Amino acid sequence: MAKETKYIFVTGGVLSGLGKGIFAASLGNILKSRGFSVNLQKCDPYLNVDAGTLNPGEHGEVFVTDDGAETDLDIGHYERFIDRNLTKASSVMSGKIYTEVLEDERKGKYLGKTVQVIPHITNKIQKFIVEAGKGVDIHIVEIGGTVGDYEGLHFIEAIRQMRRKVGVENVLYAHLVYLPFLETSKELKTKPAQSSVRDLLALGIQAQIIGCRAEHDIQQEHLKKIALFSDVDERAVVPLPTIRSVYEVPTNLEKFGLGDFVCQKLNLPIKKRTSNGWEKYLDNLAHAEGEVKIGLIAKYMSNEDTYKSVNEAIQAAAIHNKKMAKIVWIDAEKVEKHGTKVLDELDGIIIPGGFGNRGTEGKILACKYAREKNIPYLGLCLGMQVAVIEFARNVLNYKDANSAEFDRDSKHDVIHIMPEQRTCLDEENFGATMRLGAFPCLLAKGSKSYTLYGQDKISERHRHRYEFNNDYRKDFTKAGLMIVGTSPNNHLVEVIELPLHPFFVGVQFHPEFKSRPDRPHPLFDGFIKACLNQS
Ligand code: GLN
Repeated sequence: MAKETKYIFVTGGVLSGLGKGIFAASLGNILKSRGFSVNLQKCDPYLNVDAGTLNPGEHGEVFVTDDGAETDLDIGHYERFIDRNLTKASSVMSGKIYTEVLEDERKGKYLGKTVQVIPHITNKIQKFIVEAGKGVDIHIVEIGGTVGDYEGLHFIEAIRQMRRKVGVENVLYAHLVYLPFLETSKELKTKPAQSSVRDLLALGIQAQIIGCRAEHDIQQEHLKKIALFSDVDERAVVPLPTIRSVYEVPTNLEKFGLGDFVCQKLNLPIKKRTSNGWEKYLDNLAHAEGEVKIGLIAKYMSNEDTYKSVNEAIQAAAIHNKKMAKIVWIDAEKVEKHGTKVLDELDGIIIPGGFGNRGTEGKILACKYAREKNIPYLGLCLGMQVAVIEFARNVLNYKDANSAEFDRDSKHDVIHIMPEQRTCLDEENFGATMRLGAFPCLLAKGSKSYTLYGQDKISERHRHRYEFNNDYRKDFTKAGLMIVGTSPNNHLVEVIELPLHPFFVGVQFHPEFKSRPDRPHPLFDGFIKACLNQS
């Protein structure tokens, strides 16, 4: 195994949903700011092969990488925190591990041996980790779930073994815990945290760094107590109270000397930290005055994380313009049933990506409202398709216009599956059957998008089956809906605009994935500016 990469394994205990992803990403951020090359990887216990078939209402958004992997939303945090485009290697789910092991078994690669969780599954996990860590100074691996979860044990055992395999001086274990607050005695309790460190120890791993999440003030005495009972260096027990912005976490960790500690423990030179470039963002955030009200017309209303990157992209653009975004989630089905009154207070409307029929008619109504009332509109993937359908119905007068996804019998399938893409319609096989990942796009000079990007050649990430139907190009452009972005061979429509509208842009891709806190995506920035102009 490669000796040169250092590994930090991040586990979590007490509760799920503590922000392990942010903790791991923040470690990555502080180490990158010290001049080290860093990679991040998430190991998820689910038996899914990738996140592509997971319900975003339940699990959070499916984040797409440049190389077309459908991953867990934590990969989005990683990209935003280390400002690096990651690959499919950064997301490993149990299903992927098991699939490879079972394929190897079928091919007879185990030479008659009994195939077992240990060593075959654990070895495969290590192979994925080592491959992802190749070539970087520090590879940070987050283990999903909570320590002690039955389904995560193979990952814990794999990372336990790695300490010997790659050298004890090359591995650090960081554990994130939660300190509950007892309202009756007004006390922060450390016992669950101690127990969780012990759960990890029972599996053979001694935590070396402990991150303490709490919603109340954490005192020195709490940290000391945890250090003593967990046998962890006091310097390495760091508080992670709830703060205004997750982008303050890295500075917070540095304040407690965690960067120096990690470098010392991993035998790395202690380099001075340079700026991570977020000062301006945090300063704008602190001084943001007033808000811009953005309506997100969506199908899922259940989970904050469902449109995580869209939320992040809106907020980054708003803060860049020294405003806070108030993101108003609007249930598309409600618009369908009760009309567009709920849209009256909005400064701008976004329709994010989505699949399936539910709520689509409400989205089409919201889009019509934005077009007719000159409200800034940004359509993301499905949001572009909806804009095309709406225009076809209400301007071109193709009353039954639709996407083949929603109505296979429509005479005007303005959004359809291209003949050469028909294999995508294989109904038995839903995993990874889409146009996925980064594709180049050419923008028309003079268009709003071209002006915003400041260039004509762009690359953006896709995740969809359906496309604009080229048979209708002429009809649309004649009536004023312009096709301003296409694939380089002009075959696929990627961006549409209404030039006479203050801001009406639909994109077949997902620009939200490439937005960074300190570098908002140009389309989102342009959209927010238009919203501010309007309001
Ligand atoms: N459902 C649409 C398609 O598959 C849009 C997908 C999306 O918005 N990501 O083409």
